[in-house]
Amino acid sequence: MARRKLVYEGKAKILYEGPEPGTLVQYFKDDATAFNAEKKDVIDGKGVLNNRLSEFFMTGLQRIGIPTHFIKRLNMREQLIRQVEIVPLEVIVRNFAAGTMAKRLGMEEGTQLPRPVVEFSYKDDSLGDPLVPEEYIVALGWASQQDLEDIIAMALRVNDFLAGVMHGVGIKLVDFKIEIGRVYDGEFPRLIVADEISPDSCRLWDIETNEKLDKDVFRRDLGSLSDAYTEVARRLGVLPQNNAPSGKPTLVN
Ligand code: 5GP
Repeated sequence: MARRKLVYEGKAKILYEGPEPGTLVQYFKDDATAFNAEKKDVIDGKGVLNNRLSEFFMTGLQRIGIPTHFIKRLNMREQLIRQVEIVPLEVIVRNFAAGTMAKRLGMEEGTQLPRPVVEFSYKDDSLGDPLVPEEYIVALGWASQQDLEDIIAMALRVNDFLAGVMHGVGIKLVDFKIEIGRVYDGEFPRLIVADEISPDSCRLWDIETNEKLDKDVFRRDLGSLSDAYTEVARRLGVLPQNNAPSGKPTLVN
């Protein structure tokens, strides 16, 4: 069989040319990185779980009318996606103070915000993805004012969906990051949710205990990342209810 053409390799995923023009195959690696790849490890099964969890969230978003790049899952580690022109921004929505917001403002982690806030970082590893004001985004041509308004509205809808789904399984959605892509239907550009939605890109805390069930487990050495992600998948029904939360993940077909 001919080797597939590699289009892009990132820290946690690889993109290959897809079977049809305008499609890509997104492969989820087991690699975990933090602090701009200063901390690295390989977490057995992480890619398999994130492939399934991202499928779960993206199909849920599509069902409520939010367009995403997801077409279909191909196998345990790969999904077929639409090729997009990535808007070079990390779009972050926060419901509770944590991470860089808590640090920057000296807030206690877990403080509930009066309303969800949306912020933007410029996607550039060499600069450490710096926070950017909306005015820079428009002035530097990364997105138009109208695009920005549409991105904020879409991010808040994604937040409502994810927060509701998580609440239903006893998980608090503290914050998350999404990426937005542009696709062209004829001449007209359209914005869609791209990249991935998984515990790598969200902060998820147990509602009762505040136990962390996301990548902070790896960033802060809090225990087994695989156990945390398996627990999220199990609660969402991506894993069977009786699946032991430790060991290698067993997936439902
Ligand atoms: P913070 O700005 O507090 O570090 O991150 C806010 C939220 O965005 C967290 O849920 C975090 O996981 C996510 N996030 C921020 N930057 C990145 C990134 O470069 N990669 C991923 N996967 N998630 C990120």
